[in-house]
Amino acid sequence: MSRFLDRRLDRLTEYIPGEQPQDMQYIKLNTNELPYPPSPIVLDRLDRAACAGLRLYPDPDCTPLRRRLAETTGVRPENVFVGNGSDEVLNFAFFAYGGDGVRFPDISYGFYRVFGALHGVRCEEMPLRGDWTVDPADYIGCGKTVVLANPNAPTGLCLPADEIARIARSNPDRVVVIDEAYVDFGGESVIPLTATLDNLLVVGTFSKSRALAGARVGFGIGNSELIRDLERIKNTTNPYNINRLSMTAAVAALDSDAYYREKCREIAETRDRTAQALRALGFFVTDSRANFLFARSDLLDGETLYRRLKARGVLVRHFSDARIRDFVRITVGTPEQMERLLQEIKTILDNRTE
Ligand SMILES: *Cc1c(COP(=O)(O)O)cnc(C)c1O
Repeated sequence: MSRFLDRRLDRLTEYIPGEQPQDMQYIKLNTNELPYPPSPIVLDRLDRAACAGLRLYPDPDCTPLRRRLAETTGVRPENVFVGNGSDEVLNFAFFAYGGDGVRFPDISYGFYRVFGALHGVRCEEMPLRGDWTVDPADYIGCGKTVVLANPNAPTGLCLPADEIARIARSNPDRVVVIDEAYVDFGGESVIPLTATLDNLLVVGTFSKSRALAGARVGFGIGNSELIRDLERIKNTTNPYNINRLSMTAAVAALDSDAYYREKCREIAETRDRTAQALRALGFFVTDSRANFLFARSDLLDGETLYRRLKARGVLVRHFSDARIRDFVRITVGTPEQMERLLQEIKTILDNRTE
């Protein structure tokens, strides 16, 4: 750090993203991207004319994308905010609503505590139960801003929609943020509840189920006044937060619903089959509804498994948090990639005394 850096930034902790090796020699199962390409419609629309359009600034209101998102989710455009990845939407939500403290699970998306530190917000991390589920009682009437990933990461476990409604109703003076990054792989969206709950903000992304992690497009859906709050922050930091190519890609992705629905169905099938195979090898595996598996073997600690898989060309994610350091998180890839993963794990387990 330089001697010029503002003292307020001393206490920042940085988010550590999963490895993004640029040589692409790994089977990459570490950051929950889709193993399939964006839809053919997306690829067609990102043409020379779309690139030529880069001469101009993008639409700061993201009108076409907000309109299409509103149509597909059953809300109105004024209920939709679009961000540069859902990380930006979450960042703005911490900035806007974190003031009196934020509550989220001790095991969840690692960025929440980073945003909390950035905005000097008090974070209360509530321990997940022994079975890795969220205990709704920790959030009912807590009087804090609540942030829950649903399905949660890295467990993949869901809280039912009626529990989320209960949490939101019991905290009428606080915003409840539901991060639905993985909902398309088998969760139930609470977007319909935003019609009646004015304190519910649902956050989604094109990075996972829509195969557009590189485009950086996320969204927030909620009461129009919440959306105005987020727009206010956007318009004081970066009004052109969505570039033209990403906007084109995201609209095209929404025009390709059948394609993505089929891919998500394939991922869910591969996920459940891989979970069974891991259990047959003696692993404990949570009942994930997301596009990743969270697994632990008594025979090998998480870091060793991660390192040995990496040495064999398969990249998975390991977290050093004490409570989950026995686990690895494995993104669900193609059936062929999962076959290779299972082969490598078998070999590693057979040779573990070496
Ligand atoms: C991947 C992920 C995000 C971030 O998604 P982007 O839209 O790519 O910024 C947000 N929340 C959770 C729980 C995630 O796993």
